[in-house]
Amino acid sequence: MKHAHVIGAGLAGIAAAMALADRGARVYIYDSAPVAGGRCRSYFDRELGCRVDNGNHLLLSGNRAAMAYLHAIGAADSLAGPGRAEFPFVDLKSGERWVLRPNEGLLPWWIFAPTRRVPGSRPTEYLALLRLRIATADATITDCLRPGPLWRRLLEPLAIAALNTMPDRASAALMQAVIAQSLGRGGGACIPCWPSVGMSESLIEPALRRLAMQHAQVHLSCRVSGLDVVDQRVVALHLPQGRRELEPGDQVVLATPAPVAAQLLPGLTVPNEFEAIVNLHFAMPPTLRDTTPRFIGLIGGIAEWVFVKAGHLSVTISAANRLVDEDAQALAGKVWPDVSAALAIPATPMPAWRVVKERRATFAATPAQLRRRPRARTDLRNLVLAGDWTDTGLPATIEGAICSGRTAAETLMQLVP
Ligand SMILES: Cc1cc2nc3c(=O)[nH]c(=O)nc-3n(C[C@H](O)[C@H](O)[C@H](O)COP(=O)(O)OP(=O)(O)OC[C@H]3O[C@@H](n4cnc5c(N)ncnc54)[C@H](O)[C@@H]3O)c2cc1C
Repeated sequence: MKHAHVIGAGLAGIAAAMALADRGARVYIYDSAPVAGGRCRSYFDRELGCRVDNGNHLLLSGNRAAMAYLHAIGAADSLAGPGRAEFPFVDLKSGERWVLRPNEGLLPWWIFAPTRRVPGSRPTEYLALLRLRIATADATITDCLRPGPLWRRLLEPLAIAALNTMPDRASAALMQAVIAQSLGRGGGACIPCWPSVGMSESLIEPALRRLAMQHAQVHLSCRVSGLDVVDQRVVALHLPQGRRELEPGDQVVLATPAPVAAQLLPGLTVPNEFEAIVNLHFAMPPTLRDTTPRFIGLIGGIAEWVFVKAGHLSVTISAANRLVDEDAQALAGKVWPDVSAALAIPATPMPAWRVVKERRATFAATPAQLRRRPRARTDLRNLVLAGDWTDTGLPATIEGAICSGRTAAETLMQLVP
C-alpha cells in the first residue's frame, strides 16, 4: 500500500486525502494548527455565547465539486438556505428592497421580468456580461463592464464577494469563470446555501470521520518545517518530534497556504499579494422577531452581506485590506447601523460583538497574481501542490480548494514513483 503524506488539513488537503484514501493509499495528514479546517473553521465564542465561523461562507448549488464533496462525507443535509435561487437586497441609501430571482432553466428570461431583475436595470445591461467571455488575460472587470444600476446593485457586489478583490483590479477572466459556473448555468446553479451550524460541522468534521474510517492518521499541532529532497524526490519531512523518513514509494501533497509552500519549496512561484476579509458577529438582538436563517445583500453601506444565523448575526466585508488596521470597536460601531437598517430593528443598544479579521483571506485575484498560480505538478517526482492558490481556473473559494485537492490526488496517481 502506498503512503501519502498530506501537509495541511484545510479543504484542499482534506479533499486530496479523501481521494487518495479512496484509491487505497494509507494517508497521513499533518497540520500546524490545533484544529483542522484552515480558513474554513468554527469555534465557540465566549463573548457571544454561541458557535461562529471564522467567516461567513456562501456556496452555490453550481459548485459541483463542493456539492459532490458534501455528498461524499454525508453532510449534504447540513446546509441551510432558501432552496431556490433568491437573493434579497436592500439599498441603504434609498431604502429600496428587492429579491433577485434568476429563473431555473438555461434561457435567462428573468432579465426581462422587472419583478425578478435588479430594479432600475435594463435587459441590455445583462447582455453586456457577454463581454467578459472575450476578455483578455490582462483585462480587469471594470475594463469590460460599465457603471449603471446593474453594476452598482449586482455586478460590483458579486465581483467583490466572489473574487475578494476590487473590480478595477480583479481579473475579468476569473469573473467569467464564476459567471460560467453560476448565472451561466441558469438559476438551478445559483441556489445559495451555507452551513446551518458551522463550517467545521458541515465540511470538516464529517470528512475527518470518513478519513478515520479509512485508517488515515491526522496529526494536529504538527508543523512541517522542512522537506529533505534528494534526486528530485522528497525523502523526509521535518516534524516537531524530529525527521520523518519517507519510504521509496511514498508521495506528498503540499496543501499549505501559498507563503508556506514557497518557504518549504524555495524557488516556487506563488501568489504573493493578498486581500483581507473582515467578519463581524453580533449577538442575536432580542428585537429581531424573525430569526429564520437567511442572508441579505447591502448596497451602499460598509457592511456587504448580513447573515441571520443560529444565535447571532454575522456580517461580511470583502476586499477589506483598507479595514484591517481599524480599531475593532470603532468598526463594530460603524457596521452595526447598516445591520440594524437592513433588518429593520432599532440601532440602539448595539449587542455584544466580535470582529474577526482574516488578513490573508485569499490571494488578490488580479491578472498579475493569476500568472503566479502554479500547477499541481512540480519538478519533484513525488510531490504535488494543492490549495485554493494553485492554478484551478477558479477564484480562491471552497470550490477551488476542493478541485485543487482532487487534481493533486489525480496528478500524484499518474506520477511514476
Ligand atoms: C473569512 C473568509 C471568508 C470566505 N468566504 C468564502 C465563501 O463565502 N465562499 C467560498 O467558497 N470560499 C470562501 N472563502 C475561501 C475558503 O475559505 C478558502 O478558499 C479555503 O478554505 C482554502 O482552503 P485551502 O485548503 O486551500 O487552504 P487553508 O484553509 O489555508 O489550509 C491550509 C492548511 O495548512 C496548514 N498549515 C500551514 N502551514 C503549515 C505547515 N508548515 N505544516 C503543516 N500545516 C500547515 C494550515 O494550518 C491550514 O490548515 C473564505 C475565506 C475566508 C478566510
